[in-house]
Amino acid sequence: MVKIHHLNCVEIQSPVGRAIGHCLLLETENRLILIDAGVGLIDTQQPNERIGNELIDMVGFRFNEEWTAIRQIEGLGLNPKSVTDCIVSHLDNDHIGGLADFPNATIHVGIEEYDNYQSGNPRYLKTPLSHNPQIETYKQSDDNWSGFEARRIDLRLDMDIFLIPLFGHTYGHCGVAIKYMNKWLFYVGDAYYLRVELEDTVHPVNELAKMRADDNELRIETLNRIRKLVTEHPEIDVFGYHDIEEYNKFKGYGNREV
Ligand SMILES: [Zn+2]
Repeated sequence: MVKIHHLNCVEIQSPVGRAIGHCLLLETENRLILIDAGVGLIDTQQPNERIGNELIDMVGFRFNEEWTAIRQIEGLGLNPKSVTDCIVSHLDNDHIGGLADFPNATIHVGIEEYDNYQSGNPRYLKTPLSHNPQIETYKQSDDNWSGFEARRIDLRLDMDIFLIPLFGHTYGHCGVAIKYMNKWLFYVGDAYYLRVELEDTVHPVNELAKMRADDNELRIETLNRIRKLVTEHPEIDVFGYHDIEEYNKFKGYGNREV
């Protein structure tokens, strides 16, 4: 039996509006699994040392200890020490700052993303992984999920979880597909910042997404594949990391059981 909680662990006031960090917490009887981790406790205590003024101003981060995943897990009456695994879409710091709060958790990430991180790409910060967590990487696979390449993550749960390559935002950016209550959830990370990008290609957020992409052509190709999926499979719940409207729609999923 697994419960899924939707947590917002980021607050950003950007030039194109408010952005959040929509993380998922999978609760089983004796373990917790986090999908993306938001801003961490140490980030809120030492933002300049951990993230740096320049990036904070550029992105528009706001900090509050109560918004971190660890404090929200405690708030649910759960033990943060039970977080055994964290699946991450990519290694930008607004997605992994919180990993340091779960030092014993294994990190699950696509191999291309980890290689990109190790290659010295200046977009990444070293601080979020400076606690040297155990890292498990996932290689290219022949498996297919709804027309997308799918890399199975085996967490010994009675549940299908796949890492889905959605490259472009970063070279190794992935989404996560989860079967929950007989329905597929498809978390697309930063494949789009705001859902509006699927319909409105002149919205100012498109420019920001283009600017932040490692490979913009690949990002657009990925976006087109998501558009197609959303059209052909309205039964699949698709959502990204930063969109507050999507988050508000999903909050009600918390505490439901699979
Ligand atoms: Zn992001």
